[in-house]
Amino acid sequence: MLSIDDIIQLEQQATQELELLQADVASSGDEVAAISPDKAIGRLSRLDAMQMQQVAKAAQRRRQDRITALQNALDRIDAGRYGQCELCQNWIGLDRLQAQPEATRCSDCAG
Ligand SMILES: [Zn+2]
Repeated sequence: MLSIDDIIQLEQQATQELELLQADVASSGDEVAAISPDKAIGRLSRLDAMQMQQVAKAAQRRRQDRITALQNALDRIDAGRYGQCELCQNWIGLDRLQAQPEATRCSDCAG
């Protein structure tokens, strides 16, 4: 079971990671923006640009998924039901939560 100190520390960690991700999402907006069709680039460089855009979009999606997961973790902390596995209801290990504060499953159920 998590102590109050553990939860406070994990809440700070989740909040910090959330802020960093939100800053990343904001600063990656240009990479993800649509390539304008009238941009004077050749066909090959246009393909390159489209591939880079796909990669940037995938990275942005992963960031947004993690933001949602971290916000959900903070909601669970507020609601006083943080740190229990959603499947087996056992406590999730502190080392696991420190590595991944948004974890919703214990290491046994995650695999
Ligand atoms: Zn479990």
